[in-house]
Amino acid sequence: MGDIYEGLLGLQELDERMEEAQERVRQFEPEFEELQAPVAALEQEVEALRQRVDEMKAEVRRLERGADDKRSQLKKYQDRLERVRNAREEAAARTEIDLVRRAVEADENDALELMDQVKRQELKLDEMEKKLARLRAETEPRLEELERGRDEAESRMAALEEERVAHVERMNPQTVRLYERVRAGKTRVTLARLMADGACGHCFSMIPIQEQRMVQQQEALHRCEACGVILYTD
Ligand SMILES: [Zn+2]
Repeated sequence: MGDIYEGLLGLQELDERMEEAQERVRQFEPEFEELQAPVAALEQEVEALRQRVDEMKAEVRRLERGADDKRSQLKKYQDRLERVRNAREEAAARTEIDLVRRAVEADENDALELMDQVKRQELKLDEMEKKLARLRAETEPRLEELERGRDEAESRMAALEEERVAHVERMNPQTVRLYERVRAGKTRVTLARLMADGACGHCFSMIPIQEQRMVQQQEALHRCEACGVILYTD
């Protein structure tokens, strides 16, 4: 193997290994999503229910405050009843007292009914939270396994990147530029062997005799005119 091809073949091999490593890193993403989707969905449900319970509790407090206000109003009317000067004033005061008392009762009933609902929803919330904790615990080992796998794949990728930088530093910059140009082209193949019959190992076009000789002599890098790959010989 000639020196001028050795660096290039090594670079191509490194790039292939990097693509594989990158693919392995990418493969973890859908697995993470699949594993975490049920947990995320349940978390959302729990959060929505918790919010509803909070809103209901706020409504209970509002009803209770309303009942308190009406009770102090009631107290005022009852005081007034003691100071009535005639039957007409007494009847008016009693009508007001009845109205307010009924309003207090209505608020209290609404508050009680709502408190019942709050209790039921809190039980449901409690169950859902337990279910979520169970689901998280069940998911945890697989999640850790996936994280370990992804970390490994990422450090393998980083090691290959370092190796590539070091490899490129040892190569002729012009050769590297040619390689990058071919690699950026439409074929993903950068290097192809010149076959024994004189054909390009990638597209199988026949290479002119004179060019075959140049490739065999390994004096300069030569590209296949048909497909653009860099030709090499052993
Ligand atoms: Zn070719």
